[in-house]
Amino acid sequence: MLHKFPTIINSMQSTRIKTLSISLSRYCHFKTKMGFESLNRTSTLASKTAQNNVAIFWDLDNKPPNSFPPFEAAVKLKTAASSFGVVRSMVAYANHHAFSYVPIVVREQRRERKLLNQLENKGVIKSVEPHFCKVCGRRFYTNEKLVNHFKQIHEREHQKRLNQIESARGSRRVKLVGKYSMKMEKYKNAARDVLTPKVGYGLAAELKRAGFWVGTVSNRPQAADVALRDHMVNVMDKRKAECLVLVSDDSDFVEVLKEAKLRCLKTVVVGDLNDGALKRVADTGFSWMEILKGKAKKEAVSVVGKWKDRDILKRLEWTYNPEVDGKLNGSEDVFDDQSEDQDFNSTDDGSNADCICTKDSGPWWELDSDSDFNSSQSQ
Ligand SMILES: [Zn+2]
Repeated sequence: MLHKFPTIINSMQSTRIKTLSISLSRYCHFKTKMGFESLNRTSTLASKTAQNNVAIFWDLDNKPPNSFPPFEAAVKLKTAASSFGVVRSMVAYANHHAFSYVPIVVREQRRERKLLNQLENKGVIKSVEPHFCKVCGRRFYTNEKLVNHFKQIHEREHQKRLNQIESARGSRRVKLVGKYSMKMEKYKNAARDVLTPKVGYGLAAELKRAGFWVGTVSNRPQAADVALRDHMVNVMDKRKAECLVLVSDDSDFVEVLKEAKLRCLKTVVVGDLNDGALKRVADTGFSWMEILKGKAKKEAVSVVGKWKDRDILKRLEWTYNPEVDGKLNGSEDVFDDQSEDQDFNSTDDGSNADCICTKDSGPWWELDSDSDFNSSQSQ
């Protein structure tokens, strides 16, 4: 047995090193404590490969930003996700209903505004500052007059510009867009305060402003789910992210999360069902409130710490196995010929059944054992 091992290593081809190391590391799963002793020596290796690209997937049908302005909610979500790594992509899907949805807060604000308007018009109350048109600078004593002015003058102007651009083609269109861009931007910023958005609460526009790519799907039930799921699979296939953040409580996403774990990706769920199916599958989960209050960001630090430890341990197993094996072979009490043979045979015929990732070269090629996941969830 002693003389057998070196010949195996010598005859190994470079392509086989990876699969072999996985089979070796399997021996070491239960000896993780040994790894910590040489943690410092491999920290440079770990930091080189530890960059975590994060992709956010937001199921707006299931989780609209209810009691929070959408722009702020989106920014908070991004902030929380960025504590897991570098946020590379942010997508949100919903059907038309979600985009015409008006949050309760906004409805209350509108009711309040209506009441104020009535009182202003009757002369019962008077605003300390006159209402000020952000497009042309004119001042009005009542909010209602400002709104009427805005609609009659600026909304019409805006519509005319849009029509001109719409009917133009080619270089003329480009010129018009350039010519009007400043004015249109000014109008949009002013309109946000003055006008009530006709479609919903400007949800899509607000999310786009926060940097999200927003997809609108047909109103068929499940259409947003399907689109979101396809998008997630696409990101996985193209290896654009190592960590997926899913905002949903919909148990239809359980399978795609499981798929992500099979591919050795990290998974985070944002939802309000504490014992939901998704949170049971994902590495970690947060409530919407935890995201908005910034609590998730703090907790993420310990989650990322655990992930790093896990990754470092995996690499230690990889790096130091020959040494460890040498020692163990010296004492001749751990391996026997049989188990070795079995393992090499199983790698020869491609042990895809054990870990899908063995054939890939992504940084998360090592698959966790079940006990690993359970312990990281329960902590
Ligand atoms: Zn004006």
